[in-house]
Amino acid sequence: MAEYQTFEHDVLVIGAGGAGLRAAIEASAAGVSVGLVCKSLLGKAHTVMAEGGIAAALANVDERDNWKVHFSDTMRGGQYVNNWRMAELHAKEAPARVRELEAWGAVFDRTADGKILQRNFGGHRYPRLAHVGDRTGLEMIRTLQDHGIHQGIDVHMECTVLTLLKDGDRVTGAFAYDRERGRFRLFKAKAVVLATGGIGRAFRITSNSWEYTGDGHALAYHAGAELIDMEFVQFHPTGMVWPPSVRGILVTEGVRGEGGVLLNSMRKRFMFDDIPDNYKSQTAASEEEGWRYCQGDKSANRPPELLTRDHVARCIVREVKEGRGSPHGGVYLDISWIRQRLKNSEEHIKRKLPSMYHQFKQLADIDITQQPMEVGPTTHYVMGGIRVDADTQMSAVPGLFAAGECAAGINGANRLGGNSLSDLLVFGKRAGEFAAKFARDHGSGAIDNSQIEEAAQRALEPFERGNGSDAEGPYKIQLELQEMMQELVGIVRREDEMQHALEGIKRLWQRADSVAVTGNREYNPGWHTALDLTNLLTVSEAVTRSAIERKESRGAQFRDDYPSKSDELGKINVAVRKDSDGTMKVLREPIPEMPAELRQVIQEMG
Ligand SMILES: Cc1cc2nc3c(=O)[nH]c(=O)nc-3n(C[C@H](O)[C@H](O)[C@H](O)COP(=O)(O)OP(=O)(O)OC[C@H]3O[C@@H](n4cnc5c(N)ncnc54)[C@H](O)[C@@H]3O)c2cc1C
Repeated sequence: MAEYQTFEHDVLVIGAGGAGLRAAIEASAAGVSVGLVCKSLLGKAHTVMAEGGIAAALANVDERDNWKVHFSDTMRGGQYVNNWRMAELHAKEAPARVRELEAWGAVFDRTADGKILQRNFGGHRYPRLAHVGDRTGLEMIRTLQDHGIHQGIDVHMECTVLTLLKDGDRVTGAFAYDRERGRFRLFKAKAVVLATGGIGRAFRITSNSWEYTGDGHALAYHAGAELIDMEFVQFHPTGMVWPPSVRGILVTEGVRGEGGVLLNSMRKRFMFDDIPDNYKSQTAASEEEGWRYCQGDKSANRPPELLTRDHVARCIVREVKEGRGSPHGGVYLDISWIRQRLKNSEEHIKRKLPSMYHQFKQLADIDITQQPMEVGPTTHYVMGGIRVDADTQMSAVPGLFAAGECAAGINGANRLGGNSLSDLLVFGKRAGEFAAKFARDHGSGAIDNSQIEEAAQRALEPFERGNGSDAEGPYKIQLELQEMMQELVGIVRREDEMQHALEGIKRLWQRADSVAVTGNREYNPGWHTALDLTNLLTVSEAVTRSAIERKESRGAQFRDDYPSKSDELGKINVAVRKDSDGTMKVLREPIPEMPAELRQVIQEMG
């Protein structure tokens, strides 16, 4: 019999980033008991790392902005395979969620007349990102935590959920282990909200921290939910490339929003060479116009450095492949050039981009006020995730909700920068509200002990295999997977390479099934890594199979063998579901027809 401690909550929220905290606050405000579980310490989620800002059409800096422009920017960025209802709700509700955050104590940067300041970002027509220098995520987490902590939410830190428990179709709880002592915990719950963030650790070069192994995606998939859009993985164009120890760390798009330019080894501003047709009318015709845009000139169009991330990342890859890259395999990002335009440029850069200044000074010995940075693409965000109902955020599994990066729909084929933080607030709130309602309407379900026994036994098997044997440990399997995904299912994809990756994933599944660890259960990172492998392999297989199925290039998915868009595939989402025999089934699911009024909004916005 497995030994475990039992906790009982009406609503269990798994993940304490922006989405999880916002869901917990809302559920708690609805009067139900709430438990909040996170893999590391409270306050250390990905959300805290967010730099550039929160996208919301507040129209504080440009009065032409409104929900319609934000909606149509989001749909254009997502290449129209987004869940249009989610994009509509997001654009309409984001301003209220940002103002609410301000009312709860978030101290945003200010306009001269005291309103929340908004900055330019890629793919957003007007300055739209509410921000706090380049430390917006820190302020957001701090505010949500301060607010949430007074609502009686029970927080379980350093606790990793291993599996969801079900009573028939319905979810009734979760089984977890505490990382410090390695002991098991049973969480009984009437409703569960997944808010576990991304999958970046499935790739070798990533801006994501160790926690992002696709746990929520895998937990939901194995519990019977569908994952959609998994082929759409965002490679942010600007990660650090040098020194090797910091490769992948994010360089915020805010640098380009403040006037930073991309240069190749010949010091040419190469982004002017390749502007997609559907963005031509919105892109600056000259460097002069681009600079005026960054300075707030409303008659100017944005510079091509602020085109969508997928496009900028591919242009960088092209420069490097064609031999015009920087010494360490990237290109140059230069903000120091603005000294030609601004007298106090040094002070301005340090004030607007304090984290970037310190990051480069301390990690690469580069002073960004004087020298260009070396940057290249890094795996950053996953548009794909758990399929949810747009209004309630409930998945196909009754009682199982999802919000934030682990849920899918709002972003379609590509996310615009800043749209994640607003997504967390808008849909975190909705998930909390509807999970609380589900808990009140449905009461408790039963806990099946055999599911607990099976999960506990599976979790401890690596120790049994490790004792005295020379069986393989988890790190090599993890590294081989990351390298394979980076090389074969990365920024530029081909069918033959991805088929090769699928065979590799199959072999890695076999090796993961017999992985071994040594030592004891107290804070054992080898064991934790062994347990993460199931999640990493599940999401890697989902990304690969979905990318093979989408035989076209759209948004973040670029197929070398299918470089154009297909009208037929523009009408579907690729979904994966666990079949009754345990294999991964790939489906094409038609996108519901967009209502005429939303179609008209897109037409009007051009
Ligand atoms: C460097 C960086 C900068 C960014 N800048 C911006 C920006 O300026 N604007 C923007 O909109 N977006 C930005 N993003 C993206 C954005 O920060 C993330 O998409 C967003 O924060 C994800 O929030 P979340 O609440 O979904 O999950 P996260 O904040 O990632 O939190 C996930 C939570 O789930 C927990 N968890 C995971 N697995 C388990 C498990 N098995 N058991 C228990 N708990 C678990 C984790 O411990 C954590 O608490 C940035 C991302 C990065 C990496």
